[in-house]
Amino acid sequence: MSHQSATGIAVLSQGRAAVLEEAIGPTGVRIRNLPKTEPVAGAVAVSIRASSINHLDLWMISGAQKVTPPRVLAADGAGVVETSGDPAWKPGDEVVVFPTLCCWECEWCKAGQNVRCAKFGVIGEQSDGTACELFHVDARNIFRKPKALTWEEAAAFPLTFLTAWRMLTTRARLKAGEKVLVVGAGAGVAVAAISIAKHLGARVFATSRSEAKRRRAIELGAEAAFDSAEYSKQVREATGGGVDVVFEHVGAATLQESMRSTVWGGRIVSCGSTSGVKAEITMPRLFWAQIDLLGSTMGNAGEFKSVLEAIDNGLRPVVDRVYPLADVQAALTRLDAAEQFGKVVFSLEG
Ligand SMILES: [Zn+2]
Repeated sequence: MSHQSATGIAVLSQGRAAVLEEAIGPTGVRIRNLPKTEPVAGAVAVSIRASSINHLDLWMISGAQKVTPPRVLAADGAGVVETSGDPAWKPGDEVVVFPTLCCWECEWCKAGQNVRCAKFGVIGEQSDGTACELFHVDARNIFRKPKALTWEEAAAFPLTFLTAWRMLTTRARLKAGEKVLVVGAGAGVAVAAISIAKHLGARVFATSRSEAKRRRAIELGAEAAFDSAEYSKQVREATGGGVDVVFEHVGAATLQESMRSTVWGGRIVSCGSTSGVKAEITMPRLFWAQIDLLGSTMGNAGEFKSVLEAIDNGLRPVVDRVYPLADVQAALTRLDAAEQFGKVVFSLEG
């Protein structure tokens, strides 16, 4: 149940924990009590105050990811340093976890390109996760918690904001004043994208099947929000010809409409394909409109620092609902039904 980095520091999830035991859906995840140990040199043991799940956890509990149970869920966590095996941190420090795994020692990691590390992965998939009382991790995975955020907010932002930040800035090079369409508003990463795009000074448009979520997207700063069925005509009309960037994570069900929604030379950036792994595209649209089709996943530590700076400058995550850890099955069921707007969070307090 551990991920050894190249430096030998294992990720460990201890105490009360939400453990995937059988990949049969939410009922296969159970609360267990795992033994507690002291952190090794270079690691920090964080007493988790809040943790948050992502669509990845649904892939895991359904058996779509190739992981061998038991596995503690969740990539996102925030808490208080309980014991430190690294002089950079001391007990009582309030921290958030950088939600990815890498070796920190290879040429790519040293060049700040953690995403290219051969050991790159995500906490809670290639290792145990943060849905636990006490989380041991490499001290380099720990960052100071933004002061302005509650514990629930601090657990809500890491993976989705890191992913959406890299997609919109590093990959799609979104500029102030440009128009961006966020499809599937409601998903944690899409809600992050709306907030980040607004923060960067872009004009934001959104799509959702749900009228309530379209309303929430507009409250969050979208100029207009459209139904998910054949939105491209409405997008082109509302934007005077199309958007500069489309933020994609739905994939198969929406990619064609997303390609019809851009201006000439538009950029489409995708971090996922929740509607199925194979998508069909109309090739002439791709080359005639000179569209850039960009893939992206998670992000680098430097991008995480940029997110933390943006939070200090007012960027905020959206918490959909907070559950006690004991209600992990209900939380997963809500995410599976796509009822959420923003992030589903566990509180470990009380
Ligand atoms: Zn590396």
